[in-house]
Amino acid sequence: MRAAMAEALVGDDVFGDDPTVRHLEAKTAQLLGKEASLFLPSGTMANQVAIRVHTRPGDEVLLHEGCHVYRFEQGGMAALHGVQAVPLPGDAGRVPITRFAECLRPDDPHYPRSRLVVLENSHNLSGGTVLDAAYSAEVRKFATENGLAVHLDGARLANAAVALGVSLSDLAASADSVSLCLSKGLGAPIGTMLSGSAEFVRQARRVRKLLGGGMRQVGVLAAAGLLAIAEGVARLGEDHARARRCAASFRGVPGVRVADPVTNMVLVHTDPDLVKPCAEHLAKHGVLALPFGVGRLRFVIHRDVGDLDVERAARALSDFFSSRPGSERSP
Ligand SMILES: *Cc1c(COP(=O)(O)O)cnc(C)c1O
Repeated sequence: MRAAMAEALVGDDVFGDDPTVRHLEAKTAQLLGKEASLFLPSGTMANQVAIRVHTRPGDEVLLHEGCHVYRFEQGGMAALHGVQAVPLPGDAGRVPITRFAECLRPDDPHYPRSRLVVLENSHNLSGGTVLDAAYSAEVRKFATENGLAVHLDGARLANAAVALGVSLSDLAASADSVSLCLSKGLGAPIGTMLSGSAEFVRQARRVRKLLGGGMRQVGVLAAAGLLAIAEGVARLGEDHARARRCAASFRGVPGVRVADPVTNMVLVHTDPDLVKPCAEHLAKHGVLALPFGVGRLRFVIHRDVGDLDVERAARALSDFFSSRPGSERSP
């Protein structure tokens, strides 16, 4: 990948004439089944650009309460675009359609305008759970009937597609716009694609410049992105299988409950007071796990994590809990 980056043909992408970026944009538009696509520096910027294009100040955005755009983007939709979120509960990142329907605003001068639904697939905070194409199609139908747009935060969409055994375009078909991180599981160092209709992407390109995301000889990054989509998607199944083996090896550890992995994440539930010391103990043994909400630790499997690493993680986790008094209690 470093060699491909070094050899990349480049131009000035702010003028739309970087050949490697154009190639990557065409490839991802095709992969996602959309007319056009745009290279951005991050998943966060892709989501914020999409929200900006779909909304006007005062509009409302309906989404799951655990969504990245609601939790982990500094309230960007309010701070940058003057729109308000309607965060809704639902299992595994899935808001029941009836819940969305209850929150629709009547056309009345008292109310904000309901404008956009955001979906996230796979769903990070739920531990990499997936939304199937049937659910996404139901959301699409609801949105169309009520004049709403749909943005899909597909930072980890390739993981969802592989887990469900469908194409990325099947999962993106229900959305007006979709993001896809080239980093994360696909293994490029930097970059997120944002795809949609030609008109959507034309407007997104303007907003990207507004937010300072127009970059010059960015073909060096697009070259890595091309490899990420050419080779990264096909090997995600390995990560998912390894995540299942990892979960199985964690299950024998006293004092933890381990969720069934759906994609490449392993969520470990334990006593909330132990999460931080456990993460510190693991880090000392070269295992990086993220404290992930109350009483939860997140482990992510990716291309640089092998079977020996998983064994090391299981040993370190087991050491930590076995050495604690009362460790025979399960949470
Ligand atoms: C990582 C992630 C993002 C943000 O991507 P960055 O490149 O870190 O800004 C957005 N949404 C989801 C679901 C993610 O997992």
